[in-house]
Amino acid sequence: MSNENKSIHEFDFNLICEYFSSIERQGPGSPETTVKALSFIDSLTEKSLIADLGCGTGGQTITLAQHVPGQITGLDLFPKFIDLFNQNVNSLNLQNRIKGIVGSMDDLPFKKEELDLIWSEGAIYNIGFQRGLNEWKQFLKTGGYIAVSEVSWFTDNRPDEINDFWLDAYPEIDTIPNKVAQIQKAGYIPVATFILPENCWTEHFYAPQFEAQEIFLKKHAGNKAAEEFVAGQRHEKQLYYKYKAYYGYVFYIGKKI
Ligand code: SAH
Repeated sequence: MSNENKSIHEFDFNLICEYFSSIERQGPGSPETTVKALSFIDSLTEKSLIADLGCGTGGQTITLAQHVPGQITGLDLFPKFIDLFNQNVNSLNLQNRIKGIVGSMDDLPFKKEELDLIWSEGAIYNIGFQRGLNEWKQFLKTGGYIAVSEVSWFTDNRPDEINDFWLDAYPEIDTIPNKVAQIQKAGYIPVATFILPENCWTEHFYAPQFEAQEIFLKKHAGNKAAEEFVAGQRHEKQLYYKYKAYYGYVFYIGKKI
């Protein structure tokens, strides 16, 4: 099928999928950070049911499986990511512990109170932090955990350039104390909060994109949508280096009461 037959939106969407499929992570994070967040969660057993929402191609899901017992379901909206997810799982022979399914985080296929742990790295923003906390809670057992990473402000005041950029990209961005208050209000005990180290952005997220961008631009030479997309990614990276004192990703871990 030629691209002219597709809407611009669908074409851009495929480009974005292709771009992010070529790198190991689709958001800031690292195996060390995943393991650190897990260290606040006790009581998982071989019978535990875990969901990783917005799992992407599964970088963090595989780390989870290597460090805790239980069955893990990875869920993502993009079929291409789930195909790669399942290929990665099979190549590590983890298919008896992990399965990837296509689905949307606003219409979860789980039973009420069946999950012991809900994991979501760099993805809850798709539904919104407060909505995700509120809606996902019904699927957790009492005493079950939620662990999510979310972009957050480190200070009460920020330079206009970065403030405006993020308010436009994600209006729910907020300070750490405000996010913790939202967790408590949604009916969870705020168990732990920590800021992801800078290498989660620089080494694990932006560095792999450098080469991926060159390949992607070569392949799509002359394609305006592809060029604009890469320009946007590069702009976001420059802003990170300029303003990283003011914002970053934060892991929030809560326990359902
Ligand atoms: N957790 C991965 C991916 C984070 S990027 C990592 O840390 O590397 C955000 C992910 O959310 C993408 O894989 C995207 O496809 C997925 N996503 C976006 N909207 C979604 C939705 N409504 N339901 C499920 N997944 C969604």
